[in-house]
Amino acid sequence: MLELTNAFGGEIYQAANDNRERKNGPWLPTQAAAKKAGSKHYFTGEPCQNGHITTRYASNAACTKCASDTRNEQNKLRAALDPEWKAERNAKQRERYAADPSKSRAHNKRWIAANDNHRREYTREYMRMRRAEDPTLNERAKERMREKRADPAYVEAEREKERQRYAENPEKHREKSRRYAKENPEVAATHARNRRAKIREAEGFHTTEDVNEILVRQRHRCAFCGTSIRKAYDVDHIVPISKGGSNWPSNLQCLCPTCNRQKNNLDPFVFARRKGKLL
Ligand SMILES: [Zn+2]
Ligand SMILES: [Zn+2]
Repeated sequence: MLELTNAFGGEIYQAANDNRERKNGPWLPTQAAAKKAGSKHYFTGEPCQNGHITTRYASNAACTKCASDTRNEQNKLRAALDPEWKAERNAKQRERYAADPSKSRAHNKRWIAANDNHRREYTREYMRMRRAEDPTLNERAKERMREKRADPAYVEAEREKERQRYAENPEKHREKSRRYAKENPEVAATHARNRRAKIREAEGFHTTEDVNEILVRQRHRCAFCGTSIRKAYDVDHIVPISKGGSNWPSNLQCLCPTCNRQKNNLDPFVFARRKGKLL
């Protein structure tokens, strides 16, 4: 067993080591030990002069993060000055990706997991720059998406991917949907209504915006008793689906929960008469 302590304190070393998913056990803690074992890297847990707590090269004790930063800077500079070199490098990258996409994806996933904040900031900044350069960027992206979605083969392929992702980790997806439903109850309710209507083979569908328009039209009052429904409302099919009513917005109204419970599956005329209204 290696002695896992050093000047910087064993705890940080241990914690960092635990996070590194080292395949062959813990990192060697000193340059001498790494050299002796023929290992290219070692890890002390101490920060480099730029504050990186990461591996060092056994050959020259240099910080690997500093070295890769320098390499990246140099490559960026060269790419800017030498478009041919840049094109060649990108082509090679594409080749590597095509040869084994799963390997590249796994690599990207690991990088994203380790650099999530950095990646988000970078993407945000990058998109901000792109939009400043080209204000039509968003619109064109949406247009491309609409074109893609018009192709049934694309839609089916996307659904299949989604099913696979779900099958890989159903609990994660259920948790995500639960969270989304909690944060967006109206959207979730619309989905549920559309799903139920589809199962019952009703014609039509509606969106949350359709329901919002109906609420505005009804001035946020129950379509039957006129009580305020700002706090709670139920979306009701005017002609019930069981009686051949559609699921289009034109067959929807918003009721207070009390009226909705009373209406249940009654014929709308019977219900209206009971409510003392003439239709
Ligand atoms: Zn460094
Ligand atoms: Zn009511």
